[in-house]
Order: sequence, then C-alpha cells, then structure tokens
Amino acid sequence: MREDVNTISLPWSLECSACGATRSADGLPGVCICGQPLLVRYGAALPAPALKEPLRQRPWTMWRYREWLPLADGEAPVTLGEGGTPLLSVPRLAAKHGFRDLRVKEEGSNPTGSFKARGLAAAVTRAAYGGAQSLVVPTAGNAGVALAAYATRAGLRARVYAPASTPPLILAQIRGFGAELVCVDGHIGDCGKAARAYATETGAVDVSTLREPYRIEGKKTLGLELAEQLDWTLPDAIVYPTGGGTGLIGMWKAFAELRQAGWIPAAARPRMYSVQAAGCAPVVRAFDAGADACAPWPDPATIAAGLRVPAPLGDRLMLRALREGGGGGAVAVTDAQLQAAARDLQLLEGIDACPEGGAALAGAIELKARGALKPDDRVVVFNTGAGWLYRA
Ligand SMILES: *Cc1c(COP(=O)(O)O)cnc(C)c1O
Repeated sequence: MREDVNTISLPWSLECSACGATRSADGLPGVCICGQPLLVRYGAALPAPALKEPLRQRPWTMWRYREWLPLADGEAPVTLGEGGTPLLSVPRLAAKHGFRDLRVKEEGSNPTGSFKARGLAAAVTRAAYGGAQSLVVPTAGNAGVALAAYATRAGLRARVYAPASTPPLILAQIRGFGAELVCVDGHIGDCGKAARAYATETGAVDVSTLREPYRIEGKKTLGLELAEQLDWTLPDAIVYPTGGGTGLIGMWKAFAELRQAGWIPAAARPRMYSVQAAGCAPVVRAFDAGADACAPWPDPATIAAGLRVPAPLGDRLMLRALREGGGGGAVAVTDAQLQAAARDLQLLEGIDACPEGGAALAGAIELKARGALKPDDRVVVFNTGAGWLYRA
C-alpha cells in the first residue's frame, strides 16, 4: 500500500508565504528554500457551497471538512476524533463584562486536551503518508502531548523537546503516550534548536509550528467550524491567545478560503485580536510599532506556557492576519489578569480554562475597556486547552 500511494501526485500545491515560490506537495516538505513557511494552495479544488447541505450529515470531527483538507483521494486520516468542539454562550461572563453576545470556543475537549490535536492530526497524517518513520517537535507542552498521541496512533516514533519548566502533568502525558521526552533547560526557542539538530542527525521529520505546511491546515478547521456553528456567518471579533500563531494564521486562511469559494460573503472579515502575556509579547510589540516582523523577546516569562514563544517563525503571517482582518489588533495581559479570568471561566461558567484561555478572556475584557470591542459586538474567545493539565 505505502509503496504505491507515495508515487501518486497529490492534488494540491505548496506556495511560499514570503517569496511566492511554488512547489509540488510530494515527499516530506519543510520550509521554502528562502526559509519562510510554505502554505497549501488548493487552486480550483476548493469545494462549492452546495456541499453545505450534505455536510450536515457528517460526524462532528474536523475531518467532516475533508474537501478543505490535504487528503489524497480515499485516504483515511490519522485521527482520534479531534475537532467538533462546542461553541458555548457564556451569559454570566457576558453580563459581568458588558457583552451582549460573548461565546467561548471550548478546545479543551479535544483528544489530548488542547487544540494542538487538530494540527498534529493533519501533520502526522501527511508525514505517515510521506513515509516518515519518526517525528520530532519542540514544544511549550501541548504540541508534545498531541504529537506523542498521534504518532502512536500512526505507529510512528516521536521525540519531544520541552522546557524543564513545562507543567508536570503535561510532561507526564507526553511520556504516557510513549514519546521519548527530552527536558531542556531553556525556552521553546532552545528546544527548537535541539529538535532541528536531532532531525538533521537522524532524518526524523520536524513537525514544528510552520516548519511543515500541514499543522496550519488542521488549525484551519477552527475557522471552518466556527463559521458552520454560526450558520455560515462570522463573528465581529475573534480574541485568540497567541504563541506560535498557528491558530490565528489557520483561521485567517480558513476565512480567506471560505470567501474565495463563495461560502461566506466577500465582506465577511472579523477583526482578529491576538492576546499575549505581558512577560512575552513580541507580536504585541511589533503590531504597536507598525513592524512587519517580530524582534525576539529576550526573557520570556509567563505561567501560560503556550504563550512563551519569544521568536515565532510565523510572525509575518500573524501580523498580516491581524491587519487584514477588518482592523484587529494585539494586546498583552499580566499573569494576574489571565489567572483571574481563567478562574472566572471556571467559577462562573464551569469551563475548565487553561491559562492561555484565561488570557483570551482577559484580553477581551481589556479590549472592551479600551473601546476596541463594543458592547454589541459578537465576540468569540478561544479556550485553547484544558485547565487540568496545568495543575500540580
Ligand atoms: C500552543 C498553545 C497556544 C498558542 O498557540 P498558537 O500556535 O499561537 O495558535 C495557546 N494555548 C494553548 C493551550 C497552547 O497549547
């Protein structure tokens, strides 16, 4: 089976997000030769809006959108049932903070406890098809858990580099799913260097954020799902806790493709807001400075592990997404603010928010105080993972 699938040309192409160079999707693609991320282009293959109706009958996992995803004809994805997460209204929180329509996309209910499942399901599916034997990832935590589980699901080996300061339960989950875990005395940037060295040495496939083109495709389903759950409309504003940027860039790509394929009006451009921690806010700083790339943040420090990304490879794409949305922005919140907001999600609404999800809500509150979010805006904040993974 493996031998013949590998010789079939895949029906999408890859385009560099920076220099525009294109290449075929065959093999195990990494970044462009210019060093910047490759993005999947489907060309005329995006599905027509007539698919909305039959879509209703499909199971609620991210693979209900298979026509939007990089799958070969008839290919079965590597899956644990990721996606199909609830979009919850949160009336008590909305009343407390003066929002008319506030909702939480609850990603903690994914397999492995975070939205990282979506990206890794897609990336592992493609790597397995491309003939990979072993995979490697640097992680702030949740990507490591997801890779460990999906690699096991595909029968492949996984190696994970995580900061020693990663919450202990997350490290236990990475080991629990059978990955080889290396704890690094440093931040995710240091883990990235170690992972790349390991990949070069052993031939393991590096599935770091944006170092291969398919995690973004899995993350795109956040946007597709949100649109479908709102009956093919989009909210006025999306508030998203940002580290490496896959969620933000994935949704931005989803909305662009939905417009291109005529599934939503050409004018449907929600304002996208990135929330970062005050102790690691390279995107906020670059956005405020009007820059088109981030300067590395010297000493990243926050309890929100997923936001501890001092030099994201997707910086240019994130900044583009924030500016191309109808006037979004970026905001930093302190650890005290994000912890208080995570507690509110838990105590007022019963949502087991992770610190990053707390950051998203804290960001929405801050943006409202600044007048960037209006009481009548339809606002969606993302709880990107399960809170229990962070407890001692
Ligand atoms: C990884 C992570 C983030 C940040 O991810 P992006 O790549 O910026 O989308 C946010 N929250 C949690 C829980 C994470 O694991």
